[in-house]
Amino acid sequence: MKWETVIGLETHAQLSTRSKIFSGAPTAFGAAPNTQACEVDIALPGVLPVLNRGAVERAIRFGLAVGGRINPRSVFARKNYFYPDLPKGYQISQYERPIVEGGTLEIVVGERQKTVRLTRAHLEEDAGKSLHEDFHGMTGIDLNRAGTPLLEIVSEPDLRSSAEAVAYARTLHALVRWIDICDGNMQEGSFRCDANVSVRPAGSDKLGTRCEIKNLNSFRFLERAIEFEVRRQIGVLEDGGRVAQETRLYDPDKDETRSMRSKEDAMDYRYFPDPDLLPLDVSQQWIDDVKNMLPELPQVMRQRFIESYQLSNYDALRLTSSLFTAKYFEDLVLEVGGAKNAKVAATWVTGELAGALNANNVDIENSELDSKWLGQLVRRTIDGTISRQTAKAIFVGMWAIAQNIADHNRGGGPYTTSALTKFNVDDFIDEAGVKQISDMGEIETIIAQVIADNPKSVEEYKAGKEKAFNSLVGQVMKATKGKANPAQVNSLLKQKLGGS
Ligand code: ADP
Ligand code: MG
Repeated sequence: MKWETVIGLETHAQLSTRSKIFSGAPTAFGAAPNTQACEVDIALPGVLPVLNRGAVERAIRFGLAVGGRINPRSVFARKNYFYPDLPKGYQISQYERPIVEGGTLEIVVGERQKTVRLTRAHLEEDAGKSLHEDFHGMTGIDLNRAGTPLLEIVSEPDLRSSAEAVAYARTLHALVRWIDICDGNMQEGSFRCDANVSVRPAGSDKLGTRCEIKNLNSFRFLERAIEFEVRRQIGVLEDGGRVAQETRLYDPDKDETRSMRSKEDAMDYRYFPDPDLLPLDVSQQWIDDVKNMLPELPQVMRQRFIESYQLSNYDALRLTSSLFTAKYFEDLVLEVGGAKNAKVAATWVTGELAGALNANNVDIENSELDSKWLGQLVRRTIDGTISRQTAKAIFVGMWAIAQNIADHNRGGGPYTTSALTKFNVDDFIDEAGVKQISDMGEIETIIAQVIADNPKSVEEYKAGKEKAFNSLVGQVMKATKGKANPAQVNSLLKQKLGGS
């Protein structure tokens, strides 16, 4: 029997406001425990919540970015439950009337594009943290996180594999950073997903019973947890059992999910509108103002890249993985002579540069290899001054200097700034003598010599062996110390050999 996987994600994105959603206490991460919790956050009697306008604005920004409906009136509700890190005894959330409803997210999985429908996005406050380590049989409570603004984004059950779920989560992650509503820091818990997973016989249109895996804070854990869960559920069903609806936790050390609580223990949250807060009214004027401030959205920019730079969907996707990457790319395009050279610029950004950033785990924002400097190098490959090989070697040097400058700026590294200048690429090319040989006469002489010295390869080539030709090209490149243009050598050599 074939099974189909069905997944819906609930994502919590921490909104990047400086103060909390209902109090003036700061939201900065990493402060000493309980130093950033005020009277409201610790629920002293008599305090009242005051809504943070910045949190609402960020929710509106999100709603507009996904083409959702911004409800002109939404309502805050109390979600009641008891837990030591929830001093009020309830969490303020939105229930029946969230601020955003509907909307979609375009995801790309391999070469396939897919539209995922969103159910809603609502505002809520985070709870505090229980610390189970370091307290010798006791639990510590840190209320710094209590009252931090969250946007909970709920998808329809439209995802059909762990790969689609990861693509969705990555796209959403990129989007909240793009529109600058969340810093996206997953280690600090600023972006975390709950995955609802079920399976059903392929072809069925009835949903199977789902399990909800809580608090996945890396794309890898999200992928692994779903894969384990799908295997487990199929195993249960194929053994003639039934999947029990429950909440599960993923254990990355054991790479498995474990039951946390079953549906029977599911809490009744006794939601009701919070009498301390007025309904949230959002005027059309406010929505229009927020709309006017939105940057060009990633999917719009991707389409523009495909059309105005003739890039593949894949390249356009990679270049719009963050707003900064996209800006860097477009700056580089300007540096290297405009749209006609956009493909070369794209190759450098998605190739050498992305490779170096990845290998060294550096964000492009923090790289000192700016687009102006890289532009100097790329220009000289486009006009043929240096070969691509030479350019790659120079790039390695530029990258090393850029890294050292970054270290130095952070107050570390062994070098003084004087040793760390972003050298002028043209001066370097002159001094190092790495210009491609453009003197045809010189190349022809070398080719003649190589042909004379390698009669065997010449024979073999004439007998139809492509390998022999490559070996001859190699000999010429070697004799020119890599300074000849390989394409030129190719055609000249073929000409001289009177070949195909
Ligand atoms: P709750 O609020 O109790 O978690 P919801 O109905 O709001 O339940 O659904 C939460 C998430 O679960 C949504 O993302 C939804 O798409 C997803 N979901 C609902 N039913 C299923 C199912 N049978 N299989 C997989 N995902 C599901
Ligand atoms: Mg849920």
